[in-house]
Amino acid sequence: MLNALTIDLEDYWDVYSHDWLGVEIEPTEAVLQNTQWFLETLKRFDVKATFFVLGGVAKVFPNLIKQVAEEGHEIASHGIGHTQIFKLDKKGFRSDIVESKKLLEDLVSRPVCGYRAPAFSIMPETRWALEVLAEVGFEYDSSVFPISGARYGWPGFHKGICKVELSSGRNIIEVPMSTISVLGRSLPVGGGGYVRYFPYWFTRWALRCIQRQRPGIVYLHPYEIDARSKRIDIEHLSPEDQRKAIRHHKMQLRNRKTMGEKIIKLLSEFEFAPIREVITGCGNLRSCAINGAG
Ligand SMILES: [Zn+2]
Repeated sequence: MLNALTIDLEDYWDVYSHDWLGVEIEPTEAVLQNTQWFLETLKRFDVKATFFVLGGVAKVFPNLIKQVAEEGHEIASHGIGHTQIFKLDKKGFRSDIVESKKLLEDLVSRPVCGYRAPAFSIMPETRWALEVLAEVGFEYDSSVFPISGARYGWPGFHKGICKVELSSGRNIIEVPMSTISVLGRSLPVGGGGYVRYFPYWFTRWALRCIQRQRPGIVYLHPYEIDARSKRIDIEHLSPEDQRKAIRHHKMQLRNRKTMGEKIIKLLSEFEFAPIREVITGCGNLRSCAINGAG
């Protein structure tokens, strides 16, 4: 069974600053060094992946995106500015994805047909985004996390790759994040933070269980192997927001030192491909309707 390897190509300091500090900065050069590590490691294992590229990174480091494409990886969109969809209206979302699709297609001279939302923000209340993605010409989305999470999740969504029939008559393929049922609960596995927090044996066991039934979807971020930290400025935030920002930052830095090793083990023990290839390998996809798309 082929699993999908996906990398959300963004810079930690840029995204953290935008999402948690409300301050806009440019992506830092750390994203260059960290992405090079991924490119070299993928080359070593002869694995191709899907890179969901944040438009902000593509604007500042266009040559990096060209290099990723030239090395044979699939380029897909992670939007422009990492704003969660529930903070945008339809018009704002549409202009974000249209701009990012064009930016990437101009850079790599290939059609960009996949999208991943910032922080998995396609949820029941933002299901309308799937319709907008299909309208704009995206063929697949990989943003739904079929869990009940604090910040994201669409509990009850189909666990495997499926074709979502939209109310307009269009459809879009959804590639949901991997989950596994443990004691009746859907647990997220195979993704950045979860690979870092759980011991490797758990990720391996979970992925082996999943790939008996369907492709596993692994997602990683370049910065997850980067254990360097620096001072963050939170004085402008309310005490409550300061606590949240610090908690998130500490979680994000956890276990980064051992992440490179875990990624190498994953690459040596599992078969991976870009999402487009994994979708093709699935053959006929199950259709699923999402009710009440508004
Ligand atoms: Zn992201």
